[in-house]
Amino acid sequence: MRRDDDAVEVDEPLAVDAPAAPHDASGEQVTIRDLAGLAPPARPARRWTPRRVVAVPAAFDHPHGRRIVDRVEGLGFEVERLRANRVTGVRGDTDRETYARAKSTLAIVVSPASRRALRPIAPSADWRVDLAEGCPAHCQYCYLAGSLSGPPVTRVYADLDDILAGLADYVGRGTVTSRSAVRAGEGTTFEASCYTDPLAVEYLTGSWLRTVEHFGQWDAPVQLRWTTKYADVGSFVGVPHRGRTRVRFSVNAEAVSGRLEGGTAPVADRLEALRRLALDGYPVGLTVAPIMPVPDWRGEYGALLDRVRAAVVGVDGLDLTVELITHRFTPGSKEVLLGWYPRTRLEMDEESRRRKFGRFGAVKYVYPPALTAELRTWFERELAQTVPAARVLYWT
Ligand code: SF4
Repeated sequence: MRRDDDAVEVDEPLAVDAPAAPHDASGEQVTIRDLAGLAPPARPARRWTPRRVVAVPAAFDHPHGRRIVDRVEGLGFEVERLRANRVTGVRGDTDRETYARAKSTLAIVVSPASRRALRPIAPSADWRVDLAEGCPAHCQYCYLAGSLSGPPVTRVYADLDDILAGLADYVGRGTVTSRSAVRAGEGTTFEASCYTDPLAVEYLTGSWLRTVEHFGQWDAPVQLRWTTKYADVGSFVGVPHRGRTRVRFSVNAEAVSGRLEGGTAPVADRLEALRRLALDGYPVGLTVAPIMPVPDWRGEYGALLDRVRAAVVGVDGLDLTVELITHRFTPGSKEVLLGWYPRTRLEMDEESRRRKFGRFGAVKYVYPPALTAELRTWFERELAQTVPAARVLYWT
């Protein structure tokens, strides 16, 4: 993977790197100042606008695929009909060009068979269900790095109706939250944001709203879960969700979100969106991730918790959970991220980390035990004091 740096627009000393010619949620050119969050964003979050929308032939065999095409064309996009069931025309002359092209492409495809066989996703949910793969944002620590095969195109699935119909087979068979003494009451849980950010693409697909309504009508002990760094929740307010969907907002200290989460909505907007959904009766949550011991991390995260407290003031019947996830990386994700963001200042120093081995011997690098314990103790104490209504689901 190429790791040289092209010239980028710089109007302040760089804290971070960004992809060449990146686009924000509006599709407009974004400067490094925007991506680095060198000044607090003074504008409302804007939507991602793909530069290219393609659809494979098989997508038209599915009602939801046709719905997405109609919707996207109704929004004024031209949908390029591909001749074969593979997404082509994404590769550029350089890795960086390929990255930029992929990140600005929306592909309407059919989910691979491997995605339709659900797998547990600990510690979040019993099952992981994918409605899309890929994300248009530019987080420099992106969890998808090393998990996607090929360029990071955002692929949305046309076979949503089949995916939803297949969920019934998994009810009552969960082994993660269903076996947890404190979480079994949630019913069988389905996590629908592992490989994408739902609200980044919802206005183009309508997939998550259909899924929320599916769970609302489903007469079974089930819960839909997803997490987002966007704030465009208007279409979810007032629908018959019946409290079966927990929407979590991924939030972080300004030193992290402002510098490393290009193309996403400002944290203030995410918290406003959380409030709107909570007032509409949704169970809501915070995914505080990835937690990093940035300079003055207590002050930084303390300010975040103060904003959370303000966001939930006066919400009757508030059901608020918190998931706390520290930063980690693998050799594979580090290599991909350095290819995407060659000049990033995201700390990925193996020497300062502890090696942790997964079930199949895969290594990941986490913070050393003493630092992890310090962070954890602080978060649990401060959360209890600042947002006492919040229930911590897990720390990892
Ligand atoms: Fe990756 Fe999530 Fe950021 Fe999208 S929002 S770029 S999936 S970390």
